Amino acid sequence: MRKYVIMGVQGSGKGTQSQLLAADLDIVHISVGDIFRWNVHNHTKMGAQVRRTMAAGELVGDDLVESVVRDRLTQHDWNYGFIIDGFPRNPRQAEFFLESYDIDGVIELDLPDSEVRRRVLNRRMCAECGMDYNLIADSPRVAGKCDDCGGELVTREDDTEEALAVRLRDYHKETSPALDIFRRKEYVITVDARPPIDEVQETIRKRLGLPDYQPEEHTGA
Ligand code: AMP
Repeated sequence: MRKYVIMGVQGSGKGTQSQLLAADLDIVHISVGDIFRWNVHNHTKMGAQVRRTMAAGELVGDDLVESVVRDRLTQHDWNYGFIIDGFPRNPRQAEFFLESYDIDGVIELDLPDSEVRRRVLNRRMCAECGMDYNLIADSPRVAGKCDDCGGELVTREDDTEEALAVRLRDYHKETSPALDIFRRKEYVITVDARPPIDEVQETIRKRLGLPDYQPEEHTGA
């Protein structure tokens, strides 16, 4: 059983790196942002509650976030473990998590703010299946269309200059102190997120003492 947390600013590749790790280790990837986006997309009550907050790049309230995480983890579909992405985002959430679950490691993806801006403002997402694209390094085969399902590629509502400024501010003010809590328990490995995807994945594996990454298994998603 392996339980990991992955943290990093928007655009640092949390989703991509988590998916690579999850697919290979047979662990479940849990993205709190994806759960909220699903709810917004499907017009649920929770979606209506969080839509504006998310679009502004602000953090959703702790009570709701914690109940989403609790509910997701009580599904117990993670026999071999999980990697949770986008949570915790502040010290309270970190304390909540530590009280409820023991973890094997925290991966911090480190990316300078200037690179975050470049990546986030060039990010697109498939409106149908949610697949992420980056117009700099990972552009689709047909412009504006998802390689996988042919869905339309759109800009995430919170990938704007204004929302990004809010998210970067919150990351430095709220999420860095959450990381410090984990750091004090010696859980954290910090990985430079600037190199290509495969290289970052290799470094994560090495630092966590996991089997080597085999990039040819990666289908380019
Ligand atoms: P992400 O995909 O991780 O960037 O999350 C997208 C948005 O969902 C964030 O900008 C927040 O509005 C909300 N969100 C996701 N995770 C959390 C969290 N742990 N605490 C508060 N808000 C969150």
